Amino acid sequence: MPIIDAHIHYGDDAPELLALLAEFDIRLLNISFALESGKGWRTTAERYRSLAAQRPERFAWCTSFDLPRLDDPGYVDETIAQLAQDFAAGAVACKVWKNVGMELRYPDGRFFQVDDPLLAPVFAWLAEQGHPLLAHIAEPLDCWLPLREGSPHYGYYSRNPQWHMYTRPDYPSHGELMAARNRVLAQHPSLRFVGAHLASLEYDVDVLAETFDCYPNLAVDISARLFDLAVQDSAKVRAFIEKYQDRVLFGTDVVMRTPLSSLPPAERAQAVDALRTVYTTHFAYFESKGPVTVRDHQTVGLGLSQNVLEKLYFKNALNWYPGLQ
Ligand SMILES: [Zn+2]
Repeated sequence: MPIIDAHIHYGDDAPELLALLAEFDIRLLNISFALESGKGWRTTAERYRSLAAQRPERFAWCTSFDLPRLDDPGYVDETIAQLAQDFAAGAVACKVWKNVGMELRYPDGRFFQVDDPLLAPVFAWLAEQGHPLLAHIAEPLDCWLPLREGSPHYGYYSRNPQWHMYTRPDYPSHGELMAARNRVLAQHPSLRFVGAHLASLEYDVDVLAETFDCYPNLAVDISARLFDLAVQDSAKVRAFIEKYQDRVLFGTDVVMRTPLSSLPPAERAQAVDALRTVYTTHFAYFESKGPVTVRDHQTVGLGLSQNVLEKLYFKNALNWYPGLQ
């Protein structure tokens, strides 16, 4: 069956990559995000756009918008004009990133939150136009907890203490960020809203289920959270995916660090092999009924039915990101 990787950052068309995508019949939805204030992110977005235009059977793209400029009265109009242009140029969604909520501040030190009235007209416009919003708000809950060896995100926060919010109580809490996100869901009930990375509720599918029940306009992608699923009880995760089978999208969040086409052939082959392993690990976890190893964790595969796999692998992406059709 065809597969849509609905969350990846892999803007290249090296022959080795195209061969892998053809082998598994995978289409990549490349996700832009505005890392910094200013327009630097547009270079990557342009690459994603042009790949999607050249090879629509293998690539699609999601745009983003400049970080809010709090002192610029023209910000909202410019943002909507730019988004209109990007959707006309084939974008299928718009991304908002975690720097909204965790980085951008008002001059008085308050953190700018995703439910700030400044962004409401942008989200209202997306909803009116039927364009989806992909939202990466907050971080895994581990970010706010003491470092615990063996937890899914131990490696990242031990290497990147500046992002470990447990040691930075002046930053917004996980709960505050989730509440701001939930207010956007409530304020824009017709906005197709996809929560990246299991909507930052990766630690327990029961909590995600409660959030699904409150907000029918919410779906999630599983990108970069396979391990968080694998450490939960497989029967519980299977029941969750079966119950919410129309609202969970497949994705990996693999980031291409160096453009493949600029690598020597051996390294290029290595990078594509690494990507292959990411895919085969995911497929084993979702499809097999036997023992599966995710990173170094032993678990049991979910053994999902064909019908549920089709939704997870591509039908839900087509439904939540209609521009993919
Ligand atoms: Zn990502």
